[in-house]
This record gives sequence, C-alpha cells and structure tokens, in this order.
Amino acid sequence: MTSTTASAPQSAFPGPPEPLAPTDKVVLGWTHTARFLTTASQLIHLPATELPEIAFVGRSNAGKSTAINTLAQQKRLAFASKTPGRTQHINLFELGPKDAPDALFADLPGYGYAAVARSAKLRWQKVMADYLEVRRSLSGMVLMVDSRLGLTDLDKQLLEFVAARVGSGEIRLLVLLTKSDKLNRKEANAALAATQEFLAELATEESDVSVTLFSALKKQGVSDVAQILHAWAHELHVPVEPPQLAEPGANAEAPLSPA
Ligand code: GDP
Repeated sequence: MTSTTASAPQSAFPGPPEPLAPTDKVVLGWTHTARFLTTASQLIHLPATELPEIAFVGRSNAGKSTAINTLAQQKRLAFASKTPGRTQHINLFELGPKDAPDALFADLPGYGYAAVARSAKLRWQKVMADYLEVRRSLSGMVLMVDSRLGLTDLDKQLLEFVAARVGSGEIRLLVLLTKSDKLNRKEANAALAATQEFLAELATEESDVSVTLFSALKKQGVSDVAQILHAWAHELHVPVEPPQLAEPGANAEAPLSPA
C-alpha cells in the first residue's frame, strides 16, 4: 500500500520536498467541476479514454447519489432512480478545466434492488463484473456501504471481482461508511473495525485501501474524500493519520495495513 505510518528515514542529502497537499478549497473546487459527460448501457459504448476514472459503486439505497452530489456540491448531478430501466446505465462525469479535463467519475448503477427482475440482475452483474475487470482507465473505486448494514454479501462479491487489480495497486479502493450520522460513537467504531478487518484481506504492499465514515447530512468526511480522490487523479501522496477510531466529527479515515 502507499500509505504508511512509519516515519521516513532521514537523509543528510534530502531530495526535493514532498509536494504539499492542496487545500480543501482546491480539492472541493475540483470536485465541484464535475459535469455530465455521457451515459452507456453497455461497456462497448463507453468512450475509450486516457483519463483516470474513479468508479462509484454500492448497493441501491446505500447513499451513492447523495454522496456524489455532496462531493460535487451540486443538487442533481447524480440522481437516484429506482426505475428498473434506468438502473442499468453507467453515467460518466468529467472533472477539471473544461478545455483540459483531468479525471472521470463513473456512477455505476446500484445493485441488490429487490424489485429488479432476476434476468436484469444477472445481466447487470455481468456488465459490472466486466467493467471492473476490463476497464483499463479505471484507477479508483469508491464503494458506498450503509454504515448500519456494513459490507453485505453483494459488496463482498463485488470486491472479489476487483481483488486482483486492487492487490496489484492498479485500482485504489476507498470504502465510505455512509449515513454515519445515524450511528453513535460506539456503533461507528464497531462499523469501522468490522470493515477494516474484512478489507485487510485485500491489502498488500502495493495496494491503497482505506475506509472512512461519511455523512452527507452532517458533512462528515466530505473534504477528506475530496482530498483522496483529487490525489488519486493527480497522483499526489496524501499523508494519512495513523489508524484511529472515530471521534465525533473527527477524520476517521484509516489506512489498512497489509494482512
Ligand atoms: P443510492 O440509491 O445509493 O443512490 O442512495 P441515495 O443517495 O438515493 O440515498 C438513499 C437514502 O438515504 C435517501 O433517502 C437519502 O436521503 C438517505 N441518505 C443518503 N445519505 C445520507 C446521509 O448522509 N445521512 C442520512 N441520514 N441519510 C442519508
């Protein structure tokens, strides 16, 4: 993994200084530039691109649309649609300067919605698995998990699809424990610990895997997440605090050590 809590060795001949992390204003300004690019129901219809792509995935109702809108500080950029026909599209958003876009967000349909016909579910699972397996430009995945439910079997299946690419460091992974305003401190700590325990199995020396509490309602974790995604897209190293359990309102982003 790229995040480490060990102190760097001192050298008598220090190299160039580490680039300073951009301010929250800069990274939130960047997420705010997100604008709709295109929508596709099949992989072959996605534009081939060199831009780093960050996929947003999660069970239906996990708070994915709300998280995207909150990060982008836009009311209706991603809109939750519970209409089965609309659940099967990948929506792409472009970020950065209009004349020089520097990243894409891919909003993947929520899964696990009970009212979707089995055939549609199976078809969608295939599209999702293929996307996660073959999309070359995919460089990061944000998995939204309802903090009250924790990782479900479907979430774990999805993580299995990307395990190899996460393990090699090709795809970075951030799990958002959403709606954290609904948990008290003890419950939040338990949710973080349980998720970290599972994710530790995916972590390797090369991987970049982390988990954080997130509340669109209370704006918990919003600037931290914007910092991480900005760093992913711009290849900056974001120094992370040592693993810590949640204090109310505190940054609970916690890197995972290799298993
Ligand atoms: P999606 O299906 O994953 O896109 O989920 P939505 O973004 O539509 O959210 C599902 C439900 O959770 C909606 O009723 C939201 O209002 C609610 N929700 C989303 N984020 C939060 C949050 O941070 N706090 C609380 N309390 N509710 C939230």
